[in-house]
Amino acid sequence: MGEPQWDVVIVGSGAAGLCAAIEAHDAGARVLVLESQGEPGGSSRISGGMMLAAGTELQRRHGIEDSADAFYHDYLMHTQWKVLPGAARRIADDSAPSIAWLEGMGVEFYDFLSDAGYDGVPRTHSAVGRGAGVIEPLLERTAERGIEIRCRSRVTSLLTEGERVTGVETADERVTARQVILATGGFGANFDLVRELIPATQKAGDWLWYIGADGAQGDALGLVEPLGVPIVGHGRGVVMTTPGFTTEAFEGYLPGWMMLVNNRGLRFCDESLPYGLMDGLVREQGDEAWVVFDDAAKNAALPGAPAAYRLQIPSLPGRPSPNWDRDIIDAQVAAGRVARADTLDELARITSLPADTLRGTVARYNELARAGEDADFGKRAEFLRTVETGPFYAARLRLATVCLTCVGPAVDRDGRVLGAGGVVDGLLAAGECTGGTLGDRYVGTGNSWINCVVFGRAAGRTAAAAALA
Ligand SMILES: Cc1cc2nc3c(=O)[nH]c(=O)nc-3n(C[C@H](O)[C@H](O)[C@H](O)COP(=O)(O)OP(=O)(O)OC[C@H]3O[C@@H](n4cnc5c(N)ncnc54)[C@H](O)[C@@H]3O)c2cc1C
Repeated sequence: MGEPQWDVVIVGSGAAGLCAAIEAHDAGARVLVLESQGEPGGSSRISGGMMLAAGTELQRRHGIEDSADAFYHDYLMHTQWKVLPGAARRIADDSAPSIAWLEGMGVEFYDFLSDAGYDGVPRTHSAVGRGAGVIEPLLERTAERGIEIRCRSRVTSLLTEGERVTGVETADERVTARQVILATGGFGANFDLVRELIPATQKAGDWLWYIGADGAQGDALGLVEPLGVPIVGHGRGVVMTTPGFTTEAFEGYLPGWMMLVNNRGLRFCDESLPYGLMDGLVREQGDEAWVVFDDAAKNAALPGAPAAYRLQIPSLPGRPSPNWDRDIIDAQVAAGRVARADTLDELARITSLPADTLRGTVARYNELARAGEDADFGKRAEFLRTVETGPFYAARLRLATVCLTCVGPAVDRDGRVLGAGGVVDGLLAAGECTGGTLGDRYVGTGNSWINCVVFGRAAGRTAAAAALA
């Protein structure tokens, strides 16, 4: 066996892959990036480009006191310790330096921090230009460094010698390397895998939709299988609830004016909560729920008007709801996807919701709305509106819009893949293709991006150090 062709080969050119490539190159390694699609960038390019970070310069400028320790604490509490604490520590420690590093790469962030409402303090940093506003500068920096990104090169297997990974294989070539980094993204575009690994999506039927790029086929799972690498994080992924009106628009939040009930007719949460929380809450109701509202609320939802969302995102100011305005609702009533009835009892009959409970839930909700305080679930007063003017409406919501997945091989805090017998020699992984870094409650908004940047960078540095040792 001769000299390996490359020090580090990176599989995938999204956020994790590009960060890994730049760091590995800057540490002195000869780097090649292989990309299955016709252009680089993956789902990262079309994403929101929002990322969590604690203790940043931007937070300081806004007078927000925060720290890596606070982020680590919140991360573990929020995920109920169902993540790898070593990975969580790495994310917390490296989040602020990674924002600064991205700025050094030419990424610009809005002078605004979003707060999903459960991060403790505002931590969401939004890149100007969304995901493309990060990917484009990273691609410019890789090009300046002369790093080759070979597109239309889908890696189909890993080369091994004994227990050691020694390169990769595509349909056209075998490429040898001292270290291989998997950065292949998730499996959202592979619906068979989605249904198998995230069973909560099974009720979605043909509503199932992935908002990301076609390359998210879950290839990392098949690549590590011959090595016997354990897969962790089953069931995890962020899936938005949707009424299934269309698969061309996704909505991370319900407009706050809606009332939400489960199949028992009971309210179960603050309806304005972000998708990261709503996902888990709806799973606990049996993977579906119902929105209920009245004619006055419907008529107040004017087409094109800013939706009543709890989270304000600087890159999408004043965005209207793609599902919930007067005209869309009327069209969906006509299409049979929204039930309409003159009385709540009739609505209950059509939807098979228990009439007594639905009536009781609406009465309680109206009482809270009139008092101007949601003493039961804590929804903000500005979102409370009574359900009292017939006709009444109800629509079923299901977990159907896949945003990202988090099932895959586990990594240590330096990005090395953890096999059944410890670290796999020569193999690293970063970003959405890994498991155990994200919990089954998604933290804030921006959890996945910061995971990709932090672990992409860590894997790049680790791989270069190992390759050059
Ligand atoms: C519309 C949208 C909005 C989002 N908004 C946010 C947000 O604001 N904040 C946040 O934190 N998260 C967000 N997410 C999630 C986040 O963007 C992704 O989880 C993250 O960008 C994934 O990065 P990655 O590098 O792991 O994978 P990707 O960016 O998907 O890159 C993986 C790359 O690997 C390639 N590839 C796959 N298999 C192979 C193979 N066998 N050989 C070679 N190449 C391969 C793919 O084609 C792809 O280019 C969003 C996702 C979407 C889709």
